[in-house]
This record gives sequence, structure tokens and C-alpha cells, in this order.
Amino acid sequence: MKLTTHLVSAPLHTPFVTALRTATHVESLLVEVSDGEHSGWGEAPQVWKVTGDSLAGSQACIEGPITTALDGLGPDDLTEALRRVQGAAVGNFGAKDAVDVALHDLAARRRGLTLHGFLGSTTDVVRTDVTLSVGDADALADAGKARVADGFDVLKIKVGTDAAGDIERVRRVRDAIGPAPRLRLDANQGWTRRDAVTVIRALEDAGCATELVEQPVAAADLDGMAWVTDRVSTPILADESVYGVRDLVAVIRHGAADLVNVKLAKCGGLAPARTLLELAREHGLGAIVGCMMESHVGVGAAAALVSAYPTTAVNDLDAAWWLREAPVTGGIRYDGSLIHLPSAPGLGVTGLTV
Ligand SMILES: [Mg+2]
Repeated sequence: MKLTTHLVSAPLHTPFVTALRTATHVESLLVEVSDGEHSGWGEAPQVWKVTGDSLAGSQACIEGPITTALDGLGPDDLTEALRRVQGAAVGNFGAKDAVDVALHDLAARRRGLTLHGFLGSTTDVVRTDVTLSVGDADALADAGKARVADGFDVLKIKVGTDAAGDIERVRRVRDAIGPAPRLRLDANQGWTRRDAVTVIRALEDAGCATELVEQPVAAADLDGMAWVTDRVSTPILADESVYGVRDLVAVIRHGAADLVNVKLAKCGGLAPARTLLELAREHGLGAIVGCMMESHVGVGAAAALVSAYPTTAVNDLDAAWWLREAPVTGGIRYDGSLIHLPSAPGLGVTGLTV
């Protein structure tokens, strides 16, 4: 098998504003694993602020230790190949994710199956929420109306900056969009445990309850997560607190959350993600699958996963919706909040557009 990496840059149709920056492009790393006849594709997004993975680091890991680990292995040894990918380096979840997905994609294509069919799915449509760009209350209200007009019915609002302002912004979005669309909040570790309970209870008391609140306090503060979870009726979702199995076991033991957000770029690909989803289900924990700022390759793999391993709430897979031009041809297609999975083999990706 031959591994090739491709650095790509894809423009967004609407700038995406976070608390840290305004993005107009997605810069990402694609990997292609070829058996000489078929190519499997995967993606390693750049995630400085969560996993610390960079494009340069992921590229070095794929071209170095992962390529060495797969040396001499044939494309039909999928289980062994996946095991070697996970053992090739410490960390580097984006690189492992990219190669894990590419190996699954290649295996599916060699059998003439879609990736989601290969994973055992019987459906080819998956729902997603959409995240509103960060802004003041007016800008958020306008963005909320625009996204509802785009066909989305679950909106995610980034909070966690200042508690009083967060309450006001959420109420303004709710007033703007009316009672029907669901709202969920992501504090990205930004609150203290007391802030979190104050804000969530204020919204509950104001009749502005949200579907769920993601990562209210610091990732490592599982006692704080549990303290919040015990004191509000709104479900709490662990994101940055859970990368892999060890983290999920700790969250379950602490009672630190009601749900977990599984992301391929945090856990290292489809194989570890399946384990996380099965573990969550066995322990009665809810789950969604999310993504980083990534393209149709990475989001397509996550969508294939949830079509085969259903989650308990709408997934967070809007990243590729923001792209004006995909870096690849073929693959998933958005229709409002619905992601249509391809009918072509594997991820349905047929090549680079650039
Ligand atoms: Mg999050």
C-alpha cells in the first residue's frame, strides 16, 4: 500500500467567526492510501486549540512512523493495519484518524461497498445541527434566522465568555427564531461551575431551556462537570473531557455528563470511535458524533459512522456545509440539515478538485 498526503485549502461561503479568529478558508491535510487500483481517503484537520494537532505534525506522522508501521502489510489485513496505526505514535489523533479512515475507505472500495454499507448501515441520510458564528446579540439573532432559512432546525450557540451576556444572547436568538428550532449551547470549558449552574438555571427558569449544554467547565475538572450535571435538568455533554476510552470511563465513573461528543480527530478514527459509542451505550450514556473544521472527507467518514452506529441526539457535522468549494469531487451532499451519503463506493470521493 502506498500513502500519499495532500495539503488542501478550501474557501468558505460565509466567514466563520469564533472567539479566537475569523476563518475564510479551511486548511486541511488529506491522505490517500492506494493499493495500485483503488484509493482510500482520509483527513487530518488542523486543531491547534483542542488536540494540538497541526497539518505539518500530522503529515510528518503519516509519512514517518505510520508509513513505517504499515510497511509490508497488504490491503486485506484491515484489523492488523488499524492496530498498527494506533500503535505507531503517541497522540497524533488527527494523523491516526486520517489513515484509519483511508484504510476503511479502501477496504470498502475493494469490496464494491459504500463506506457506510461496509460499516453496517442501512440508511443513507444523517441529520446535523449548525453552529452560529460568534457575535453580539444582534448578529447572533440574525445568524439564527439565516440558518433556519437555510433549513436547519437544531442550532448550536457558542457561549462561555461572560455569564450574564450569555443568557441575554441565547434569549435574543430564541426570540428571533421562535419556539420550534432546538437550541444547544457549547461553552468550550469557558465557565466556572457556579457560572454554569447560574446560566443554565436562569435559561430553564426563563422558559428558554436548551436541548443540551456542551463542556461547561474545564476538560480535566470532572468533579466540576459532575457538580453541574447534578444541579441542572438540562443534559450536559462532555466534549473536550473525552478523547479516548480511558477518558470516557472516567466520565462514566464520575457521573460527569449525560452525553459524550465523539470526534474522529480526538479518538483517532473509526475503530476507536466505534468502541466509544458502544461503551457509551452499554453504560446508558447518550452520544453524538461531532467534527472539527474539516471537509467532505472527514465529515463524510463521521456521517458514515453515525449512519451505522446511531447516536441519541442530532449530530454536529456541519463543518463541510460552510465550504463554498470542496477540496475533493464526490462524497457527501448537504440538503439543509440533512447529509446525504454517497451511493458510489467508499466515501464516494473520486479525487482532488485542485
Ligand atoms: Mg464542543
